[in-house]
Amino acid sequence: MRRKIILFLTLAVTLFATGSSCNPPVNPDTKEFKDVMTFPPQWDGTKRGDITYQLLVYSFADSDGDGWGDFRGITDKLDYIQSLGASAIWLSPIHPSASYHGYDVEDYSITNPRFGTMADFRQLVSEAHKRNIRIYLDYVINHSGVNHPWFKAATSSMDNPYRDYYIFSDDPQKDITAGKIPMIGTEGSGGYDGGQWFPTGTMPSGIYKFILNWGSGKAPTVTVSGGGTPDVDNPDQSTEGAKYLYYGDGVCKKFYSKGNDVYELTVDFSSSWGFLVRTSNSTSWPLGTKYGAQQGSSAQLTFDVPFTLYTDYNSNDNIQDLAIPGANMYYFHSHFWTDWFADLNYGSVSTAENSPAFKAIVEDAQIWIDAGIDGFRLDAVKHIYHNETSEENPQFLKKFYDAVNSRFRAKNGRDIYMVGEVFSDWDRVAPYYKGLPALFDFSFWWRMNADINQGMGLSFADATISTHETFRSYRSDYIAATKLSNHDENRARSELGGSLSKAKLAGAILLSSQGSPYIYYGEELGYTGTKTGGDEYVRTPMYWGDRYVTSYTDKIDPAVEAAVGSVVSQEADASSILTMYRQLGRLRNTCPALATGKMERHPVINPQTGGIYSQVAAWYMIEGNQKLLVLHNLGQSEIIISLSDSLDKPLFANGRVQSKKEKEHFQLKMEGYSSAIFEL
Ligand code: MG
Repeated sequence: MRRKIILFLTLAVTLFATGSSCNPPVNPDTKEFKDVMTFPPQWDGTKRGDITYQLLVYSFADSDGDGWGDFRGITDKLDYIQSLGASAIWLSPIHPSASYHGYDVEDYSITNPRFGTMADFRQLVSEAHKRNIRIYLDYVINHSGVNHPWFKAATSSMDNPYRDYYIFSDDPQKDITAGKIPMIGTEGSGGYDGGQWFPTGTMPSGIYKFILNWGSGKAPTVTVSGGGTPDVDNPDQSTEGAKYLYYGDGVCKKFYSKGNDVYELTVDFSSSWGFLVRTSNSTSWPLGTKYGAQQGSSAQLTFDVPFTLYTDYNSNDNIQDLAIPGANMYYFHSHFWTDWFADLNYGSVSTAENSPAFKAIVEDAQIWIDAGIDGFRLDAVKHIYHNETSEENPQFLKKFYDAVNSRFRAKNGRDIYMVGEVFSDWDRVAPYYKGLPALFDFSFWWRMNADINQGMGLSFADATISTHETFRSYRSDYIAATKLSNHDENRARSELGGSLSKAKLAGAILLSSQGSPYIYYGEELGYTGTKTGGDEYVRTPMYWGDRYVTSYTDKIDPAVEAAVGSVVSQEADASSILTMYRQLGRLRNTCPALATGKMERHPVINPQTGGIYSQVAAWYMIEGNQKLLVLHNLGQSEIIISLSDSLDKPLFANGRVQSKKEKEHFQLKMEGYSSAIFEL
C-alpha cells in the first residue's frame, strides 16, 4: 500500500506538470466503418503497472555456454525484460538442489554454483535496480530437500538438535490421532489424513522371512520375522496366482506357495524405501496388483505381527510402501508424491516463531535481504499446516512475513513484497490475505480459459469484480497477482487449442484487467506446451535467436520453436504477439487507470442486460480522473456493438477493430478474438 501511495503521489505531480499522460487526438466522425487509429500516449518512464516477469533461471539465458541458464545470462537480458514494462522479476529457486527445478533446496543460504556466484547474483540485483526492476526470490518454506544438512543431521541420530526441524514418527496414525504432531493435528472434520510417510534411509537390512496369508474372503496379510537362511530364487516362473516381494532397486522375487493360501519367502533384505507385495511381475503397475499400506495410514510393521495389506482397484497412488520393523519414518505431504522432500516442522502455530526451523529459515532470508532482493514468492503455502482451510496457514504466514519484514524494514525502510502460492480456487485463496499482502489469483486464468474456449465474455468482468470484493474483505490493501499459466500448468496457448489469436487475446485481457499481472516467460512469444510427458515441456528454453539459448533438458518439443520463431524474429514483426505485449506493457505503465485502476461493470455489456453481446467482455478501468473502456471479443465471429460511450480516443487495438460515429452515436465492429481500449 505504501508503494501505491508513493506511486500515486508521483503520478499526481506528473499529471499536474503535464496536464495528462493520456491525451490522444480525437478521431473524426465517419459514417462508414473505418479501422480505429490508436494513439498510444507518451510514457514518462515511470513504472506504474506492477508487471512481474516470471522466469526459470535454468531455462532462461545461458551466458557461459554450459547449457544451463545463469545469473549473468539474466543480467545480459534485462533490457529485454525492461522492454515488456516489467517492474519485477520472480526467479525460480536459486539454491543448490538435486533436481533441475530447484524445489528440493539443499542450502537456503547460498547460490547454486550452476547459476553463478553470490557476486554474480548481486550484480544481477544491482543491474535490475538500475532499471527499476525488483528481484523476488522463490523461497521454499514448506519443505527442504532430503540432501539439506539439516535433514542429514536429523536422520543421523535420534538425539540430535536438528531432529526438531522435521517430523518423525514410528507410528504416524497413532501419533496424529493422539495429537502429538501439531502440524497435522487438525485435518478437517473427518479427523485423520496422515499424508505420505517415507523411511529415513535407516531401514534395517538383514535376513527376513515374509509370510503371506492370502485366504479367500478376508484381506491378505503379511508377517515379517527375522533370521533364517535366504531361499534360492523360485525356479517356478509361472505367473498364474503368483505372489511377489518387491523391494530395493527393482528386485522382484516370487514367493513359494505352501498350500492353504500361504506363501513364504526368506531374503537377504536391503532397501532404502521398504517393500511392497505384488501379484504381477510386470514392469508396470497394473491396477489391483500392488499391495501395501493405505495412503495416510501407518505403513510400519512389527515383527511377527500380521499386517493387513491394502490395494486399490482405482488408483495405485493410494497405496504406500511398507516399512520393515524398526524403520524410522519422516513426514512429507502426499501432494507431491516424491521422497526428495521432507516437510519442515514449525510445531504448533501458536509457537511457530520459536521453532528452530522457523528461526533458521528466517535467518537465511537475511542473507538475501543483505544481497538486495525486494521480495519473496512463497511456494506451496497451503501445505505448511496440513489443513488448507484452517486458520493455521494464514496465521503462520503472518508470523513469517512479520519476522522477515522487520529485518527488511531495518535495512530498506519500506515493507517487503511477499506473494504466496495457494494453488486453489479464489474463495480458498482469499483467507490467506490475512497472512500475506499478495497472492496468486489462479481462478483468474482458469475462468478466462473457460470463457475464451466457450466464446463467452459477458460474465468475465462481473466474476472478476466479485472476487476482488472478497479479497478486499480480508485485506484492504490486497494485491491480486493475476496471471495466465505458470511453470506448474499447461501453457496458456496450448489450453487455448494452440491458437495464436486466442493467446494474444488472453495476454490482452491479463494486461487490461485489475490486479498485478505476472507474465510467465515465453507467454509473450506465444509458447505452447503441456505437462504430458514431463513438466519440462512447459519449461522450454527461451528462443532468443542468439547464443544465449539454454539446453538444460532433452525434453524439448521442436514444434515450439517452429511455431514462435525467436525474440529476434518477433521483434522485427509489428504484428507479433511480442510486439503486442510490449505495447500493452507500455500502455499499462502510462495510464493510471490501467496500472492501478479498479474494474467497474459496464452498464450494458453485463450478464444482466447484455445478452446479445454474450461473446464480449467489457469493463471500465478507473483511477482518479481517468476512465478507460476495455472491450474484448471472446467469440470467433465478428460482432458489432452499439455504445453510448465515446470511442473518440482509442489507445489500443489488437486484431481488426473498426468504428463509426454519427453525431454522438458510436458503433464498434470487432473481429473474432480482437481487443480495444478507449479513453473516455
Ligand atoms: Mg550457464
